[in-house]
Amino acid sequence: MVYTSLKSSENGATLTLHIAHLYGDLMNTYGDNGNILMLKYVAEKLGAQVQVDIVSMNDAFDDNFYDIAFFGGGQDYEQSILAKDLPSKKENLSHFIENDGVVLAICGGFQLLGQYYTEASGRKIDGLGIMGHYTLNQVNNRYIGDIKIYNQDFDETYYGFENHQGRTFLAENQEPLGKVVYGNGNNKEDGGEGMHYKNVFATYFHGPILSRNPKLAYLLVTTALRKKYGQDLVLANYDDILSKEVAEEYGDVKSKADFKE
Ligand code: GLN
Repeated sequence: MVYTSLKSSENGATLTLHIAHLYGDLMNTYGDNGNILMLKYVAEKLGAQVQVDIVSMNDAFDDNFYDIAFFGGGQDYEQSILAKDLPSKKENLSHFIENDGVVLAICGGFQLLGQYYTEASGRKIDGLGIMGHYTLNQVNNRYIGDIKIYNQDFDETYYGFENHQGRTFLAENQEPLGKVVYGNGNNKEDGGEGMHYKNVFATYFHGPILSRNPKLAYLLVTTALRKKYGQDLVLANYDDILSKEVAEEYGDVKSKADFKE
């Protein structure tokens, strides 16, 4: 049964943001749930009231109700359990994605948006099959460590921590989220990390990615709010709600450059 896991306190906000936390009770490794807290934080700063629902096994994903879908990482065991439920959500999630819905998928969630995931044991499990990427396994090895990528389209650099055994390969119509500066990325072969398609952002970054990379959080929330309320919706600038505030909170930070590494 769908249930609300987090809600803004009554704040008189006129905007609302509904977040579906896909399989949130099963897929929640390495602090990925911090992404939800960050989405809520940014949305509230932008004057929105937020509701987060856990949409899990046997639940319908209502693509007309939700503004953002978040799909976190998980262990092979949890992934194999929820894989059985994926076909029931395929149509609505696919419709959501093609209709420019905002999705953030991390690690196991990223893998399961694609064709298939190969467990460490070598067993192959089907993904949602909505997107063309697929994931192979590797023997007795995981990619673990700090990672930095650069996204040319946004001219932004993102930082994270990767921990995965799967090696993901993108399809022709998919772009990586960024080019690896250091770290392994999707497969240690093609220099790409994560995936960006329409408003779907997928990555191997834990950390969680949005609290380490607040510009991405701002992009996701503003994209979702403008899709819902119109492209001309006036929203506070990033600098006014995030970087300046952070700088003030840590009074010893002199400039934005101090945040870089
Ligand atoms: N089980 C998957 C892998 O090892 C996903 C890991 C994760 O989500 N952290 O690749």
